[in-house]
Amino acid sequence: AKATGGGVFSSYHPRMREGLADRLELESDLRAALENGDLRLHYQPTVDLATSQVIGFEALVRWPHPTRGMINPLDFIPIAEATGMIVPLGRWVLHEACRQAVAWAAAGDGPPPKMSVNVSVRQFDRADLSEMVTQVLTDTGMPADRLCLEMTESVLMTDTEANLEQLLRLKALGLTLAIDDFGTGYSSLAYLRRFPVDTLKIDRSFVERLGVIADDTALTDTIVRLGKSLGMATVAEGIEEFGQLAALREMGCGFAQGYYFSRPVPADEAGRLFLEGANV
Ligand code: C2E
Ligand code: CA
Ligand code: CA
Ligand code: CA
Repeated sequence: AKATGGGVFSSYHPRMREGLADRLELESDLRAALENGDLRLHYQPTVDLATSQVIGFEALVRWPHPTRGMINPLDFIPIAEATGMIVPLGRWVLHEACRQAVAWAAAGDGPPPKMSVNVSVRQFDRADLSEMVTQVLTDTGMPADRLCLEMTESVLMTDTEANLEQLLRLKALGLTLAIDDFGTGYSSLAYLRRFPVDTLKIDRSFVERLGVIADDTALTDTIVRLGKSLGMATVAEGIEEFGQLAALREMGCGFAQGYYFSRPVPADEAGRLFLEGANV
């Protein structure tokens, strides 16, 4: 479409106009879902590769839409980010994940599981993020050291001074920080050393081709070594087959997630996994 001032829409194909209306409708539906408490969290176990024990979960948001069925986060998180709705949505996710972890702990006799929550760059860019997190920890009674915030490499790439301060404020709360989808961005190794990051999550695209494409196997191995030499934990994402698991164990990767162990599951099912101290 040409930007012909005022007539921007004139060159749109009807299908695209439909797309826009669709998006606006989705946007108002999402706003309503958030206000009405219709969003849900699913939880995917994180497994200790040495013991196969479930040590924690990643909270993943789900939107059961009244007419469209379950909507994938990849189809509505971008809308939430573009509209700023990600801020209240992200606060809800954090609160619900922490509340749930504390509730599971109360039903058992130990501390809450380690809970990982995704934080979008749009949330990260807000100066009051650490206040928001503090408030949620206080409100839910979640111990800070049970919480991990996952963010993508982009926070290591832009405006480094402000981002460093933000990361230090978060770290000061006592929680852990993970770099999500590691290996897909362009973060420099220098930043990685400078920033207070605890965990690298190796992107599924590498794990997918483990043992199939030599370069990807070498890269995964390099990331695991990098993590080790920087004193960081490594979590491999998206393990689907035993071969991948074996390769990662061989490399000394500490933790993993993936359908091979468990898909993201509703809270009641995740609670059972946690309380049974499941080996998956
Ligand atoms: P992510 O943070 O990289 O989460 C991992 C995604 O991989 C999840 O998709 C998970 O269901 C999927 N996955 C896990 N194991 C496997 C596997 O073995 N095979 C395959 N094929 N996929 C696997 P999901 O739940 O659809 O979430 C997609 C993305 O949406 C997430 O990617 C994350 O970037 C974003 N997202 C989800 N929940 C939230 C949230 O609460 N806040 C924000 N900001 N983003 C979220
Ligand atoms: Ca994640
Ligand atoms: Ca990821
Ligand atoms: Ca991803």
